[in-house]
Amino acid sequence: MVLYEVVGNMHVHTPYSDGVWYHAQVAEAAAEAGIDLVIVTDHNVWVDGVEGYYGNVLLLAGEEMHDVQRMPQCNHLLVYGAEQELAPHPGDDQKLIDTVNEKGGLCFLAHPVERSAPLGPDLAAIPWVDWEVNGYTGIELWNYMSEFKALAQSRVAALFYALHPDWGIRGPFSHTIRLWERLLAQGRRVVAIGGADAHGNTYSMGPWERVVFSYRHLFKGVNTHILVPHMLTRDMAQDKSTIYDALRAGHCFIGYDALGSTRGFRFFVRSGSRLVTMGDELKREAALIFQIEVPAPADTRLLCNGKVVARGSGRRLDYTTAVPGVYRVEVYRQHRWRRRAWIFSNPVYVY
Ligand SMILES: [Zn+2]
Ligand SMILES: [Zn+2]
Repeated sequence: MVLYEVVGNMHVHTPYSDGVWYHAQVAEAAAEAGIDLVIVTDHNVWVDGVEGYYGNVLLLAGEEMHDVQRMPQCNHLLVYGAEQELAPHPGDDQKLIDTVNEKGGLCFLAHPVERSAPLGPDLAAIPWVDWEVNGYTGIELWNYMSEFKALAQSRVAALFYALHPDWGIRGPFSHTIRLWERLLAQGRRVVAIGGADAHGNTYSMGPWERVVFSYRHLFKGVNTHILVPHMLTRDMAQDKSTIYDALRAGHCFIGYDALGSTRGFRFFVRSGSRLVTMGDELKREAALIFQIEVPAPADTRLLCNGKVVARGSGRRLDYTTAVPGVYRVEVYRQHRWRRRAWIFSNPVYVY
């Protein structure tokens, strides 16, 4: 099965909400970082007329929606492909999710778990709290800025990790992984994505002032790698639907590209005549043969229903079983003297 890879960052702000750079500059930063796709998600505003190819980078426009009246802030929803402004439905996240689905869009619960940094309102926690909702495409399993907030628990820590984020960033929160596992155990299909939540803001602390986490820096960080069945055509409308179809199907993985490019990671499962990849369902016909390819030697783990069932340290991991379940892959690398997440796949659902 040949798949083509589109590396994207799907959580980005511009001055239409609280970001600093406009679309063309954001696309330039994406090109410098070597990614293929940016989806701009300004708060409660869908910006029409900006989508298209900027050089080799495809820029699309989604929206990050929330009830602005609700205090404290919570329940941010990333919306893609609804193709229109969706008036917020204050206090009714289920209605908003239903509306996104009616419009043919996709939506993801943004930064579902957060810990406040006690340094000002900019760094307050904005978790997802309404777990009764259903019908959403997935969750933002790994949000780079959520992780920074959790690390910035004092002024000294904030300054250190702002200057040396790779000493801090370790992977999705275990709490978020447990929430995801719980949803998967209910039989739901929940697509995991990772995002930067890029704003490009300048922060100051006494005489010290600098842009913390530039767009370019963040686009080399936590990205979503989308696997599509054919090469993109540079026809914007066609490529957009190819990308959103793959995303909806969960044909994607999260890569922390700061530790080395994660391009080339693949995860296939074969049973009899059927071969599937992450996001797919597979009916067991014969033995289940798992094939995992990693772009560089790394600590690779295959999990079934949240438990590790196979582990390897090379560029390839093969495993055969007859046991159905929800299978996914986690890959770790050593960096700055500790184990850090490098790749999180979406699941293959075997029944
Ligand atoms: Zn948000
Ligand atoms: Zn955001």
